[in-house]
Amino acid sequence: MQAPHLHRFERDGRCYVIDTHTCFCFECDRISWDVLEYYPREPVNRIYHLLRDRHPRKELEEVVGELEWLRVTKAILAPLDDESFFKKAARAGGLKKLTLAAASLREALSWLNRGGLLLLARSREEKDITLSLRPETLIAADWGQAAVALAEISAAARLAGKNFRVELDIPFSPFPETIIKNSGCTFRCRLLVSAAPFPESLKGGLTALNGKKPAGAFKTLLENGAVETIRVAVQPASETFHTVVEALHKAGYGDIVFDLPGAWMAHPRHDPEAVVDSLEANILYYVDQLLHNAPFRVEPFALLFKAIHDGAPMYRADPSGIETLVADGEGALYPSLPFLGTPRFILGNLMEGVLDETRCEPFLLSGTLQTPECLRCWARGLCGGGHAAIHYARSGDIRHPDAAWCDAQRRWTGAVVEAFNRIASAGINFDHLVASMGPCTRRFSLLGAAKALFKGQLGLRPLLEGDATVLVQWENWNRSAYFLCNETGALTATRYDREMDALHPPPYRQEWMLTRMNGTPCGLLKLQPVPGKQMARAWLYLHDEELYAKPALQHTLQALLAELCREGQIRHILTPVTANETKLAAALTTAGFVHAGTERESLYLQGVYQDVDIYTYSAED
Ligand code: SF4
Repeated sequence: MQAPHLHRFERDGRCYVIDTHTCFCFECDRISWDVLEYYPREPVNRIYHLLRDRHPRKELEEVVGELEWLRVTKAILAPLDDESFFKKAARAGGLKKLTLAAASLREALSWLNRGGLLLLARSREEKDITLSLRPETLIAADWGQAAVALAEISAAARLAGKNFRVELDIPFSPFPETIIKNSGCTFRCRLLVSAAPFPESLKGGLTALNGKKPAGAFKTLLENGAVETIRVAVQPASETFHTVVEALHKAGYGDIVFDLPGAWMAHPRHDPEAVVDSLEANILYYVDQLLHNAPFRVEPFALLFKAIHDGAPMYRADPSGIETLVADGEGALYPSLPFLGTPRFILGNLMEGVLDETRCEPFLLSGTLQTPECLRCWARGLCGGGHAAIHYARSGDIRHPDAAWCDAQRRWTGAVVEAFNRIASAGINFDHLVASMGPCTRRFSLLGAAKALFKGQLGLRPLLEGDATVLVQWENWNRSAYFLCNETGALTATRYDREMDALHPPPYRQEWMLTRMNGTPCGLLKLQPVPGKQMARAWLYLHDEELYAKPALQHTLQALLAELCREGQIRHILTPVTANETKLAAALTTAGFVHAGTERESLYLQGVYQDVDIYTYSAED
């Protein structure tokens, strides 16, 4: 049995929902929680019936309407057809990263060329490839010779149309000795060296890294352009590492990555729940800093936030044996770093020019879409099926996740969703975070967002049955696109039709009454997604034309549209404008719309064919 499409869970008295296929998640209120107990399995009218004693019908309709909107825009419940499923499950990219693990840089030099050839030859269609040098001890003077050999490989990679990068993965002491001991972790430092010609200045920087002020050396290396990024890799050696991110951050390090597969391989008997307690403490500190406008990067936290933000689930988190290979000092090839030194996972030998494809195959069969336990698991889009090294360490089988570890992993996934919602609901601009390594998504409520934006300017509420009279008055003989250019092209200017519209709108259409602050109706706003196109149609009508010129309305409209684009995974909004609506056209232009074109003679009115202008708002603009 597959995991349910929408999974609900509670943490600390708060309710969350995650779409297990798109990773779209939101914190929800009790009414949404109750609706989601039945939605989408039960027909809408049955949901209203089942919940009739718990919530007012109007509010239930509002929640169902918002869920339908998300559904039509494919933020939730987007079906994965068989072909896409097969493509995702069977995708096997080329080699992206080869690590040469040696006693020293000098030792790695002896098979650097062959390593470069292997990387280039197995990279297939991959454009971005990385050669990582991982010496156990670093003698900075060896860099000069390495740089010459690396320049050769870089030139060959350029000819093959690849973006070639060099990483130095070196032992590192970020703190005074006592703090290192107390943190319960071991550290390394990963430098992504600036593109060829590889800088000479790196030599001095490497020496300074293991001096008395490593954080200062980080800064200098970044400032003088010798490296593109420097990361501190943290491998917890105990279950208790609650404050390591805080200690590193306070010591001046702004790019941190946890090596969890390596930690599990080294300490397979650690209690998974205790490890998750430590991870939770670290993500709490991270989120607090983000909320205080101190952006820095901690992985895998930031990547998980990005996956949720982008709606891009990770079906295979572990690249071992497919996208990564590691060669040891004898040239033996392993799937990834955690397997280094485990003879049963030797896949071939660099010096002998052998790579046994049959030994690589089990790694190809890893990932959530090919692991029965993962197919039934709601956390799969963010867990990605875990890591072969962790499964091997805990269960003795790279394709069999340990149940206790998975229980803790699901708790951890819940903590990530909660953390994401904290930053998203605070309006943190996630694009900046992703750029340093993505938009603010506020708590799920289209109507709530719109209400907040119009606050103090205009009122906004769903249509009511009682609006029928005023709607008929406005609609009769009205030449505005709002009434003439609906999706069916039909006028419905009868009171009965309007009552029906108010009572039974298509659930994915959002239509609101704009009111003056004293509650008098003054306009209408309608939004309707175009299924499968990341596009929506919008209509705006203000009964008093002078209102279009109000700067407050224009700014509010702009903010609302941006919000809709973020919430509903909409990229473009199309709005029709008839020839008489010059003031509407001006208001749209001010709010960021552009005139996309004219539908010639598309409107037949009172015996005359008329043009309709189409204005578009694009999320990219
Ligand atoms: S590895 Fe475990 S927690 Fe991760 S997706 Fe698979 S079953 Fe779920």
